This record gives sequence, structure tokens and C-alpha cells, in this order.
Amino acid sequence: MCRRALEAGAEDFTGVRVTGIDPAAPAVTLADGRRLTARVLIGADGVNSEVARALFGQPFNRRHVGFGLEVEAPATADNPDAPVRIDFGVVRYGYGWHFPKAVSSTIGVGGILSRNPAMKRAMADYVTAIGRGAEEKVKGQFLPAGDFRRVPGAGRVLLAGDAAGLVDPFTGEGIALAMKSGQLAADSAIDALRHNHPDDALPRYRLALRPMHADLRQAILLRKLVYARPLQSAIVAAFKRPSGRLRRLTFELLGGEIEYADLSRAALRRLPGLLLRR
Ligand SMILES: Cc1cc2nc3c(=O)[nH]c(=O)nc-3n(C[C@H](O)[C@H](O)[C@H](O)COP(=O)(O)OP(=O)(O)OC[C@H]3O[C@@H](n4cnc5c(N)ncnc54)[C@H](O)[C@@H]3O)c2cc1C
Repeated sequence: MCRRALEAGAEDFTGVRVTGIDPAAPAVTLADGRRLTARVLIGADGVNSEVARALFGQPFNRRHVGFGLEVEAPATADNPDAPVRIDFGVVRYGYGWHFPKAVSSTIGVGGILSRNPAMKRAMADYVTAIGRGAEEKVKGQFLPAGDFRRVPGAGRVLLAGDAAGLVDPFTGEGIALAMKSGQLAADSAIDALRHNHPDDALPRYRLALRPMHADLRQAILLRKLVYARPLQSAIVAAFKRPSGRLRRLTFELLGGEIEYADLSRAALRRLPGLLLRR
């Protein structure tokens, strides 16, 4: 992607930090003192986005933000045959994961920060529970999986990816949404500039993001349902049934075959039954 961007005329500033943002111009100042102005600026600078901070005073809302802890542990002898694990119940409004790979194992926990004040403890317990010793190089990072920015930008500045809070609230996945929203932001900017109306970039981008936002709204709704304490035993029982529809639909969702709207419709239809089975 980088090569293709350079071939298309992009200039590579990798390694040079942006130290100042002027949303009104819009312009950015680089650590080496250079100032770059543009007709449209796209902030794709991650969860701690300085561009979002310049626009809204803070890069994310602490009440909703998620937090993940992860370690790249050495591979063990049984890694080739070990299953991928996703463990709900390890943290609240999130899960633990273990991805065994050829040269290492990715182990982590992540969930909504405000619901998990003892995330480090949860990580240590999870590592022990899956049969690993204390791991040292645990890294932590915010994850904007709790909510997304309804208006992803202001004026001639657009936000994409984590900077716009575009992370799946259920799975915590953000790479695909970052790539897709980056593409939509770029297309919106190109269209607006083609018509010589840079102010149109944001309205065009908002329109283009509508399906993604609708899907995220559904996912937030579903998350509230699935993680609601009164329903947990019934949900777990529903997932344990190998032939269960909820379980099948969840795998279809993870495989990208259906949308959140399909899954939440199915879940809502089963709500009375789930409540009775508590
Ligand atoms: C523990 C953990 C595990 C995760 N696992 C997964 C997973 O398995 N699958 C998945 O899909 N998602 C996963 N995610 C989420 C995923 O990492 C993010 O959603 C995704 O990386 C967002 O992409 P982005 O391009 O918006 O931001 P980023 O990947 O954060 O990229 C932002 C870039 O901007 C640069 N930058 C920031 N500030 C400045 C500045 N001032 N000057 C210059 N450059 C700057 C940064 O250096 C960085 O390169 C995980 C997140 C966490 C915390």
C-alpha cells in the first residue's frame, strides 16, 4: 500500500513526528520545523490522535474507551496443534485471547476500561489459566471500542480509523475498519477537491460512513444485551448448544458472511426465551 501511494505521488514522511496541528488552515507542523498545508487534512493517527485532540479537546472519551493488554510470548512445543482461544468472562465487556503461531503466541485481554479497573490482575490470571508462566513484556494500549465519533471531523479535517473511534465494539477489531474508513475519507476528499469544494469533503465522508456507523450501532446494542449480567447464564447456555442458531450466526458474523443487524435481530427474537431460561 505504501509503495502504491508513493507511486501515485504521495510523499513519505515516515519517522518524522507531527508536533502541531492547525485545523483552521488546515496545516501540520513537523518536528523538524517544516509546515505542511493542505486543502483537506485526514487524521489517521490512531487512538491517541493529536488531530482529534486539536478538534475536540480529547482524542477519546475515557468513560467509553477500551483497553487491551497483550504479550508476544515464546511459542511452545504444542503450538502447531493448539487451538485459537477466545475466552469470555475473563474481563467484563471484553474477552481474553490466545493465538498460537509458528514462532510465538499472542496472549491478551481487553475490555471496556471503566468496567475493568483491575485489568492487569485479569491479564496475570488469564496467563496462568491457559497454562503459561508470568510473561514480562506485556504492552498496554487504549482501544476505542466503546463508541465512535458521530461526526468524524470538523471543517476541512477528517478522522479515520482509531482516531474516529472506528473499532468493532464486540471483537475489538480495528484494522479492517481503519483501512476502509481511510479509503472512504480519501475518496471523499478527492471528490470534493475535484469539484473545487474542499468544505464538501466532510459531508461526503459522513454519507459514505453511514453503513459502517449503522453496523457499529447494532454492535453496541448487541453488546449491551450479551454482556448484561442477568442474561449471562442463558447466553452461555445458548452458545454451548452446537446446533444453536445464535452460535452459528456468531461464527457467520466473524466470517464476514452476515452483518450485526442480522445477529441482533436473531438475538432480540430469542430474548423472551433467554429470559425464561435464566
Ligand atoms: C492489544 C490490542 C490488540 C489488537 N488486536 C487486533 C486484532 O487482532 N485485529 C484487529 O483488526 N485489530 C486489533 N486491534 C486494534 C487495531 O490495532 C487498531 O484498531 C488499528 O491499528 C487502527 O489503525 P489506525 O491506522 O487507525 O491507527 P494505528 O494503527 O494506531 O496507526 C496510527 C499511526 O499514526 C502514527 N502517529 C500517531 N501520532 C503521530 C504523530 N504525532 N506524528 C506522526 N505519526 C503519528 C503512529 O505512529 C501510527 O503509525 C488491537 C488493539 C490492541 C490495543
